[in-house]
Amino acid sequence: MEKMQMRTPLVEMDGDEMTRILWQMIKEELLLPFMDLKTEYYDLGLASRNETDDQVTVDAANATLRLGVAVKCATITPNAARVEEYGLKEMWKSPNGTIRAMLDGTVFRTPILVKGIEPCVRNWEKPITLARHAYGDVYKNAEMKVPGAGKAELLFTASDGTQMREVIHTFDGPGILQGMHNTESSIASFAKSCFNYAVDTRQDLWFATKDTISKKYDHTFKDIFQEIYDTSYKETFEKLGITYFYTLIDDAVARVMKAKGGFIWACKNYDGDVMSDMVSSAFGSLAMMTSVLVSPSGVYEYEAAHGTVQRHYYKHLKGEETSTNSVATIFAWTGALRKRGELDGIAGLVAFADKLEAATIQTIESGRMTKDLAQITSLKKVTVLNSQDFIREIRRTLEAM
Ligand code: NAP
Ligand code: MG
Repeated sequence: MEKMQMRTPLVEMDGDEMTRILWQMIKEELLLPFMDLKTEYYDLGLASRNETDDQVTVDAANATLRLGVAVKCATITPNAARVEEYGLKEMWKSPNGTIRAMLDGTVFRTPILVKGIEPCVRNWEKPITLARHAYGDVYKNAEMKVPGAGKAELLFTASDGTQMREVIHTFDGPGILQGMHNTESSIASFAKSCFNYAVDTRQDLWFATKDTISKKYDHTFKDIFQEIYDTSYKETFEKLGITYFYTLIDDAVARVMKAKGGFIWACKNYDGDVMSDMVSSAFGSLAMMTSVLVSPSGVYEYEAAHGTVQRHYYKHLKGEETSTNSVATIFAWTGALRKRGELDGIAGLVAFADKLEAATIQTIESGRMTKDLAQITSLKKVTVLNSQDFIREIRRTLEAM
């Protein structure tokens, strides 16, 4: 069999712990035998980030801006325990945070559906993709505990010195205060990423805020989305037969529970934090959830939604058998390869990505799966496989296809 050829390399960001082990296995068993894999490799493993003073993360993000498509393995975000464990020079920042800031991107999370792992919500037949705005609001707030009676005001001083004031509340006793902000440019980037992703994946886009109560703050989100839609996306949406749907957040929550799925749900930062955990756990498992960072300029970074699966890695180091689910990491690779194929016009690459995903799903649906899925499946005849054997079974299915 002739090996699939690529033109432009993917940016490959290696990572940590158990997912680093899976990364290698996926390449050896599922990619290299079938294709002439071209990547520009960056080692984002914690040791390498420490050696390069985290320059490797910045280099990888710049390479992504240059080449357009990246695939990333899960990485450790260091805390005090990790500083000691790895003898770090300092507590390096989250690589995902660094990359997200450089790409100015929005994260889209999509569950991978298989027969035998049913969502808790019976009517969800298709995936719901959650898009979370990752800047501002309560995550960049200023807070105060009010000690006693007094007047609280919002004060804005423009760079030319002119001021705007607004009374928040006149306290007659102790209380609390919070100040939040967002910027039009960040909201516009978020909106563009969402509209682009909807066009890309040919799905409806839902967006919701509380603009009836928050007549300036939330209303600005609504207005920016609507204006960008009307001026830049309406025609394309209509041509593709997809819709942009705006409603109030409480109405959206009620409708999502009754919906069949198959759409993108764009959420403000806090709503996205809360709703993504609800949606992902209702769909079954973090190990079956993919994640892609999309920049408004059309740059893509694919990864799994879960972390480095530290507990399994320590078992692996002790020589014990692990049964770690590699599906989300496999789908990070297929997502990146498919996008590369689309951008370079290589139909075979897109077809290979589709086939590898189909082989992965077929393997699970035939009852061969890792332990995390075996615990929640409704299938009767199940074979629980270890990390390596699961990947080998997918290879066998792929070869048979
Ligand atoms: P985690 O790696 O997502 O794992 C938490 C638990 O979820 C695991 O112990 C395991 O449960 C289960 N799990 C997650 N993925 C699984 C998989 N693929 N197969 C089977 N079970 C899976 O989260 P964590 O342990 O809190 O974090 C570990 C490290 O990952 C941290 O250093 C954190 O900074 C990093 N992290 C990175 C990213 C990223 O790079 N995107 C995201 C989140 C966390 P059982 O132990 O019960 O089997
Ligand atoms: Mg959260």
